[in-house]
Formats: sequence, C-alpha cells, structure tokens
Amino acid sequence: MVALAEKRCILMKIVGIAVWQLDLPLTTPYWGSGGRLKIEKLDSTLVRVDTDAGVSGWGESCPWGNTYTPADGPRVRAGIAVLAPLLMKQDPRSLEAINRTMDTVLPGHQYAKSAIDMACWDILGKVTGMPLWRLLGGTEADLVAVTSSISIGPSDEMIALIRDAYSKGYRIHSAMVGGSDPVADIACIQAVEAALKSDEKVAYDVCRAWLPAVAIQVLNNVSVRGWIEQPCQTLQQCAHVASRITHPIILDECLYTFEDYLSAWRLGACEGVKVKPNRVGGLTKARQIRDFGVAVGWQVHVDDLGGSPLADTAAIHLASSTPAANRLASSLCYHHLAADPVPGQGARSIDGFAAPPTAPGLGVEPDITALGMPASVFRKGRRHA
Ligand code: MG
Repeated sequence: MVALAEKRCILMKIVGIAVWQLDLPLTTPYWGSGGRLKIEKLDSTLVRVDTDAGVSGWGESCPWGNTYTPADGPRVRAGIAVLAPLLMKQDPRSLEAINRTMDTVLPGHQYAKSAIDMACWDILGKVTGMPLWRLLGGTEADLVAVTSSISIGPSDEMIALIRDAYSKGYRIHSAMVGGSDPVADIACIQAVEAALKSDEKVAYDVCRAWLPAVAIQVLNNVSVRGWIEQPCQTLQQCAHVASRITHPIILDECLYTFEDYLSAWRLGACEGVKVKPNRVGGLTKARQIRDFGVAVGWQVHVDDLGGSPLADTAAIHLASSTPAANRLASSLCYHHLAADPVPGQGARSIDGFAAPPTAPGLGVEPDITALGMPASVFRKGRRHA
C-alpha cells in the first residue's frame, strides 16, 4: 500500500492525449443579446489525458457557438494540437506547472486549454480518491441552485417559459433581455416582474446589448428583485452604468483573465461575477478567480460556456465548493441539447438543484465506443489524425 502510494506520489507522466469532436445540436435555437446572437449547434471537444500509471482523465472545451465569445470549436482542437506534444511526460497532477507550460507554449487562447486542465484535475481526483468539489475546497457535496434559461422574446412568451420552469422547481431564472428601444425593454421587464411569484427572481441577462445611455434609462425606470447581467459591451461601460443605478450588477462576457476580474473590482463595476472555466482557461484559473471573488465579497455564479454534462459537471464541482454565502447559482447546458454523450452521468438538475458526483475525480466517464473514432491522438511526440 505504501509502495503504491509512493509510486503515485513520485511517478506519473502524461503519455497520450486523445481528442474527440462532437456536434451538439440545440433542441431549439437560442436567441440572445437583443436578438443579435443565434445559437443552433455547439461544436464540442472532448479530451482524454492518459498517464503511464494507467489512470486517465476527461475534459471538455465547448464554446457557446462562435458569436458569443472569441472562440469556436475548430480553434479548440487547433490549440490542443499545439499544446499536446509539449505536455507529454509532464505530471498531470502538477496543475500550476501544466498551466504554465500551456501559457508559455500558447499565450491567450484560454478556451483551448480548459479541457486539458479539466482532465488533469480528473486524474488528480482519481489518484487521491477525492471528488473535485473536495479538492476545490468544499467540505461536503452541497447542492447548487440551477437557473432556468429563458430566451429573449415577447414578454408573454417569456412569462410562459418562466411559469413552466417554476413548475419544474426553478426559482432563479436567467432571462435574456435588451434591445435598442428603452421603452420596450422597460415594458418587458415590468411585465416579467409583475408575473413573478414571491419565491422567485430573475437575472436579466442583457448580454452586452445596451449602450450605456439605454442601460441607464431602462434601469432607472424599473424595479427588479434580482440581478442585471452584463448590460453593456465593455467593462468600462458597465462600470459607468453601475455608478448611475441602484441594481446589483453581475458581469460575464467582459471578463477573461484574472486581471479583468481585478479591474472589475477596482472599478466597483459589479457585485457579482460569472466564472466560466472554458472562458478563463480551465478549473485551475477559475478556482483562482472564484477565491478572489470570495475574498472581496462578490457573489459568484459558476457555469461553463457550453457543452455536455461533462463540462456542466466540472462547473458544478467548483460551484458546490464555493462558500454558500458567495454561491449565487449555476446553469446547465445539457438542457438545451438534443444529444447526450454521457447519458445518466454527471450533475443533473432535479427540482432546480444539481449535486456534484461523489466519485473520485470528475465523476463522469464517457463510453469511448459511443464516442467513435477520435479526431486525433497524440502519443510521445507522434500524432495520429
Ligand atoms: Mg450572461
């Protein structure tokens, strides 16, 4: 037993990285940002990192289409092709070193790195016998509140979707709003607020659609019990709006790096943040940002940009490990998908809440026979496409 423990402690090297491409069609098109952004299908990348100890870990990088952030599926796989050869023989349990290598080899391009980082966390959990929520700082597998996801539309349609979500247990809704007509946006938000029951609230996700003047006009003419999310395009614009309204603001798409989150705090631009592992480069960096958010008193919503229940589950692990007072909610992408590569596995929404798995590591093991042939395999300097 001691010898095995010593072996696990001393000897472990990455010997292979296999990459799969998955098309994940949405059940219905998703509209956001004032109707500017339409998402119909996601291009996901799954990776399996293999070690010489016989332990493998899984990860997923899945941008939310190619219009939401500066990322898309093919670039994930192009980035992994650059990174994988340099990661051979490195110890996957040394997460900081793995991330330093990835940042040195390929500066930026965080969306390409998150699957590898996630897979290394999965390996660390498996060899230590601990689920990720514990490794990330949790004391027990806390349930995480899950938001419903309400696409933008006429207020009566949005209210119908909210009522349906309420009947399924959701008490926090993420509703897309925002256009160029302040009067219409005021009317929509007022109609939705008037239809809410006493035990539910809405985070209105503007998804960058408003100019600062529109945001200030709308938000000074509505009363909401929830949050206003990413009202404008840039951090500076959002900070300008935040200084002229009373609603709590949560920021999302203007935050990519730790420095961005630090700038948001220095500007007093928000009271909450979204932390998405795929956008910031993986669980290692997402945990750093989450810990900073807890330190400065933010409320934190952890989810991922998109993907199968594998990516959803990684985010739920980090969300669950966040102190309850700072844990806002999460959301799960699999609700939107017509495909499920890991049926029955991972964090799933039950009555508006999701629990992280208690098995060691990520707790999700894709069936490689169901995934089919990998798009590429990297082994000790060789690539088999
Ligand atoms: Mg958002």
